Amino acid sequence: MYKIQMVDVKGQYQKIKKDLDARVIATIESGAFIQGPEVKLFESGLGGLLDNAEVVGCANGTDALQIALMALDLQPGDEVIVPSFTFVASVEVIVLLGMVPVVVDVDPETFLMRTEDIEASLSPKTKAIIPVHLFGQCVDMKSVMAIAEKNNLFVIEDNAQAIGARCADTSGGMKMAGTIGHIGCTSFYPSKNLGCYGDGGAVMSRDAALVQRLKMLANHGMERRYYHDAIGVNSRLDSIQAAILNVKLPHLIRWNTQRQEAAAKYDAQLSGIDQLETPKRAASSEHIFHQYTLRIKEGRRDALQKFLAEKEIPSMIYYPVPMHEQGAYKEVVQCRVPLTHTNTISDEVLSLPMHPDLTDEQIQYICDHIKAFFSA
Ligand SMILES: *Cc1c(COP(=O)(O)O)cnc(C)c1O
Repeated sequence: MYKIQMVDVKGQYQKIKKDLDARVIATIESGAFIQGPEVKLFESGLGGLLDNAEVVGCANGTDALQIALMALDLQPGDEVIVPSFTFVASVEVIVLLGMVPVVVDVDPETFLMRTEDIEASLSPKTKAIIPVHLFGQCVDMKSVMAIAEKNNLFVIEDNAQAIGARCADTSGGMKMAGTIGHIGCTSFYPSKNLGCYGDGGAVMSRDAALVQRLKMLANHGMERRYYHDAIGVNSRLDSIQAAILNVKLPHLIRWNTQRQEAAAKYDAQLSGIDQLETPKRAASSEHIFHQYTLRIKEGRRDALQKFLAEKEIPSMIYYPVPMHEQGAYKEVVQCRVPLTHTNTISDEVLSLPMHPDLTDEQIQYICDHIKAFFSA
């Protein structure tokens, strides 16, 4: 059996190697390394996939979040509501810009931001909400947008983990994640569902004025070369990374479907085990399984992880420490609701290998060992 990987970056490359190598070499030969035609092509290609939202490439997903906050002209001291159970970037950028993260709890079944907590966390200083579409499914955006509208708040979707997922929107239909809030942010970190071969990211919006501002901010605050109308950052998507993404983009939806198929196979094998919970699907969203995350009960998570590692089965804990307990953030974040579920799940979550090329044999091997662990 081929060695099991958490994410099989090398195996995926072998399947698209011919197209990819040719495209990368052609980009190098073209000499257009910064904001060349591959970048424009990718921005319009991804925009097309995302129900014709406008996409602006940038250097990584963390910068995408920072540029989004900068584009909204928020002030130091303004408050931004964000879940504590997330990757650090969602909170880091708020603090870097002198604003205050106000953290909320997540639903223990879907791991998604509890929208009930948003209203309980509001103050006159609240200016924005960052819903995080964690593990591949979307926060209940209908509720988020309704609260935002009522309270005059901006919504920045952290869509680093749910690119290509559809989610229920205010009109009653389904919309692409990242295109419902005022600004959406994503990452092309190699292990994401749409990953490049280095760092990359993008912001997206449907508001033409915001798009113009996002573009300008990502490129030193200039529209006309060497004329700076805003204080920006240097955060562009490389042409070579864009070329790689142009080869991968047409596969994204199929890859997401393959992840869903792998998840269904895991579910079928693991849902009968009492000592764990398989991931629940949110009612308002499709799940594209950036991660397949179990909850392991009875304090046995770390023992299971060790047992699996001995059988050469990788697994990861996303995330072991929530933001309100992190050394750098515990004194900085504010919190006005109990974080009960966040505290519990941080000790229980375990993500299994998940990528489009998992074989039946590999899934069987993983599940057999999980069953063996619990029946011992
Ligand atoms: C990966 C990720 C980011 C940051 O993306 P980078 O490209 O690594 O900077 C932000 N938020 C979430 C939820 C992520 O998973």
